[in-house]
Amino acid sequence: MVSKIAKIGTLDFGLFQFYPVLNHLIIAPSSRGVTEMSGIEKVCFQALISNSPLFFKFQMISTFLDVNDLDVDENLITDHVKEIYEFDVKLKKLQFLDYPEKITYSDLKSKISTVDFDRIIHSLFLPGRKEKLWAIVEKRVESYAHPLFAGDVENVKMIEESKKVFIEMIQESTWFHEKTKKAAILKVQKMTKMVGYPEEFEKTGALDTLFENLLILESDTYSILLKKIQRFKVELALENVASELGMELGGRLYAANAFYQPSINQLRVLAPFMDDPIFDSTYPEYVQIATLGKIINHEIGHGFDPNHRGKDENGEERDLWLPEDLVEYEKRVKCLIEQYNEYDDPDFGKKLNGSVVISELVADGFGMDVAWKIFKKLGLASQAKLIGFKDYPIDKLFFQTVAVNLCNQRSKKDVDFAVQFDTHPTDSFRVNGVFSNMKAFAETFNCPVGSPMNPKKKCDLF
Ligand SMILES: [Zn+2]
Repeated sequence: MVSKIAKIGTLDFGLFQFYPVLNHLIIAPSSRGVTEMSGIEKVCFQALISNSPLFFKFQMISTFLDVNDLDVDENLITDHVKEIYEFDVKLKKLQFLDYPEKITYSDLKSKISTVDFDRIIHSLFLPGRKEKLWAIVEKRVESYAHPLFAGDVENVKMIEESKKVFIEMIQESTWFHEKTKKAAILKVQKMTKMVGYPEEFEKTGALDTLFENLLILESDTYSILLKKIQRFKVELALENVASELGMELGGRLYAANAFYQPSINQLRVLAPFMDDPIFDSTYPEYVQIATLGKIINHEIGHGFDPNHRGKDENGEERDLWLPEDLVEYEKRVKCLIEQYNEYDDPDFGKKLNGSVVISELVADGFGMDVAWKIFKKLGLASQAKLIGFKDYPIDKLFFQTVAVNLCNQRSKKDVDFAVQFDTHPTDSFRVNGVFSNMKAFAETFNCPVGSPMNPKKKCDLF
């Protein structure tokens, strides 16, 4: 989108701007040059025309629609320009530094990984001159830190923090005995992670080496080609068996998902998942914890669900728990199954089957408990509130952000199929059911004891 906007010849992108000075290209936070206007709520199209800063935005949107062959609806644009104006006014109240800190271009790119600066700059060049100019301009880019963006991309650190707090939760367990605790803690410590894609993929020349042995000749017949490719696939598969990559060939790298690989005790967060709306380095920290953080903890929690808890720190079948701890664990798991069976779901009524979804129920419980602990530990009360929610206590916003992620249209799935085969609890339970087990939720929202969101009987895992 931004690179398309660049094509229409603007240098200011709202939050940041590009400007050439002599033979340097500067990337800096936008100067918020909003002119105060009284009675903006009454603004009409005519007023926009006569007011230059807003008219520029109006023109920009119209041109953008026009060059993309889209209808120009003046009233709609007026509304949008009004929104932009209101957003500008809000941004203006934020602390912008008069002299932002100068940072290197590569630093800027890694700090604001969600914006493809290279691509935007490419869109600013004359077509046909792109490569030639880029070779020179790239060395002449100067950039400044942006006060609205977080420091480093937090996702990797977030995994380390999640593991730390998960371990604390195990340590604080009132019923786990020392021996079981030790094994469980070791399992979290030894849990490996793959964020984005395997590191091996980054090695220079990795792709060339991969195809080194596939020799295709012009003289090859179709059947010889097929045979060569077949042979190549087999070779790759066997390479993979011998490798330490820990992922299957053709494994999901492009899915917007995160998962736990029990056979090697590995946590995976794929690249498409670390993007809007789940994650963005510009989100306030508490939102990052409520979204990606909660999911990371859910996946760590799978290491301790009924299907995988019996595997050791290397993913091998080896039950290290004391028998009495296992009895207690199963009692707690049963509580969750019964709670789910009794749950009156808005789509399916009381027809749910807890045994089918128990692993996910357990992971959800852990995910929320640990995310909440991390959130509380960070003392985030002073963080910026989401625009439009500034009167909300941050604790409430945290739960609401978790809930928004599970917002979905009403399920039209066949009841029996969904209840028998879907291994995930219903979205409604993943919010209301999971929250109703948390004392912290009842306290945050002042739910009376015995009400649906604060039942006397709660299911607690550790
Ligand atoms: Zn899961």
